[in-house]
Amino acid sequence: METETITAISTPIGEGAISIVRLSGPDAIDMTARIFQGKNLLEVDSHTIHYGKIIDPLTNEVAEEVMVTVMRGPKTFTREDVVEVNCHGGLVSVNRVLEIVLSQGARLAEPGEFTKRAFLNGRIDLSQAEAVMDLIRAKTDKAMNVALKQMDGRLSNLIKKYRQSLLETVAHVEVNIDYPEYDDVEEMSQDMMRQKTKEVLAEIEELLSIAKQGKILREGIATAIIGRPNVGKSSLLNALVQENKAIVTDIPGTTRDIIEEYVNVRGIPLRLVDTAGIRDTEDIVERIGVERSRQALKEANLILFVLNHNEQLSEEDLRLFEAIKGLEYIVIINKTDLEQKLNIDEVQRLVGDNTIVSTSLLKEEGIDELESAIAKSFFSGDIDTGDLTYVSNVRHIQLLKQAKQALEDAIASLEMGMPLDIVQIDVTRTWEFLGEIIGDTASDSLIDQLFSQFCLGK
Ligand code: GDP
Ligand code: ZN
Repeated sequence: METETITAISTPIGEGAISIVRLSGPDAIDMTARIFQGKNLLEVDSHTIHYGKIIDPLTNEVAEEVMVTVMRGPKTFTREDVVEVNCHGGLVSVNRVLEIVLSQGARLAEPGEFTKRAFLNGRIDLSQAEAVMDLIRAKTDKAMNVALKQMDGRLSNLIKKYRQSLLETVAHVEVNIDYPEYDDVEEMSQDMMRQKTKEVLAEIEELLSIAKQGKILREGIATAIIGRPNVGKSSLLNALVQENKAIVTDIPGTTRDIIEEYVNVRGIPLRLVDTAGIRDTEDIVERIGVERSRQALKEANLILFVLNHNEQLSEEDLRLFEAIKGLEYIVIINKTDLEQKLNIDEVQRLVGDNTIVSTSLLKEEGIDELESAIAKSFFSGDIDTGDLTYVSNVRHIQLLKQAKQALEDAIASLEMGMPLDIVQIDVTRTWEFLGEIIGDTASDSLIDQLFSQFCLGK
C-alpha cells in the first residue's frame, strides 16, 4: 500500500456544473476533515455524502460550499480511503479547493495515478486499467460499451482461460514425459499438444478478426465525401454535422495537433476526413488522376459518393465509379426535388451490391435512410455489440498477434516432429504474451509507461 495521499481534479475542466477534487490514500479523510465545516468526517459511515463548507485555514474564510463523499478502503476504486469533494462552482473555486487540499500535505497525482493504484492494489488488472483509459477517450456510446465490456473483465477472462488451457497442457505433457508408463506416451502427448494449441489458436484468431471493428469504434470510421462540383457534398457534410452535433476535437494521445470533425451516426463515430478538401477542391480525380485518387480514397473506411438526380451521368462520374471500385461506398442520389435526368438503371448497374440512397438535402429528405445505410454498411446486419468481446486496444492486438505467431511456431515444430520440450518453448512464449495483456508478466517499465498516458485525475 502507498503511504502518500494523492489528489487531483477528476472531472474534465470546464465541463459540467460540478467539479470533483478527489483524494486517495491513508490521510484522505483526515486531511479533508481538517478543512471541512460540517459533520465530523472522521465519524461518518463509509460511502456517505455530506453537505458543508471548505474553509481556507490561512484566512478562515469559506472557500466553497461542497458535498463531500467519504469512502473507506478497501471497497473503493483504489482500495484506499477515498474522498470526493464535489464543488459546484467553476474553475476558480475548484482550483482553490485543490490548493487547500494540497496545503494539508496531499501530493498532486500524476496522470493515471489513481488507476495505477487500483491496479497495483489488485483492484483491476492491466487490461481493465487500459479500458479506463479508453473510456476517458470514448467518443460515442458504442465505443463506450466496448470499453465498459473490457473493464468488466470479459477480455481478461478469455485470456485467463487460454492461458490456463496452455498451462495445463504443458503440465500434462511434463508429467507424461517424466513418468512414461506406456511406450506410446510421446505420441499421445504430441496429439494432445496438437489439439490444444490448435484450439487456442482458433480462439485467438477469432478475437483478432473482430479487433478491427473495435479499433474503428474507438478511432472513428474514416469517411470521405466525393462527387462532382455542385452535387451537394458540402450540403451533405453540413446535414450530417447539424443532425449529429459534430464533435470537433483534437484527438488526445496523438502527436498530430490536427482538428478533425466527428459525427455520431447511430452510435458509430464517423471521422470526416479531409473536410477542408471537400470544401475547397472539387474534383480530386481531375486533379490527381484516377490511380492516385484511388490510393487516397483507399485510406477511407467508407466513401459517400454523391450524384445529381437532376443531371445525366458524366465522364467524371464514371471516372469516380472507376476509382472506388471494390471499396466500401454508398451512392447518394441528391436533389430528388428536381426533375429526374439521371439514368437510375445505369447507376444501379454500376453500383452492383453497394447501397443507393435518394436524398433531397434542400428539403432535408432521406437523411434518416442515409444514416441507416451507413450503420448497416458497417455492421452488415446490425451486429449487437452486447454479445461480442472486442479487442480495441492497439497494445492488446499487438500481443495477440505475437501470441498467435508463437502458437503457429509451436504447431509447425509439431508437424516437423520436433521433440516436445522444444515445442513447449513456443507454448510458454504464447502464455507469456497473453499474460502481458492482463499485466501478469508485464514489467514495471511497461506499467509505468502505460499509466503515464492517462489523463490527470483519473
Ligand atoms: P458541392 O459543390 O458538391 O459541395 O455542392 P453544394 O453542397 O455546395 O451544393 C451546390 C448547390 O446545390 C447549392 O446551391 C445547394 O443549395 C444546392 N443543393 C444541395 N442539395 C440540394 C437538393 O437536394 N436540392 C436542390 N434543389 N438543391 C440542392
Ligand atoms: Zn462544396
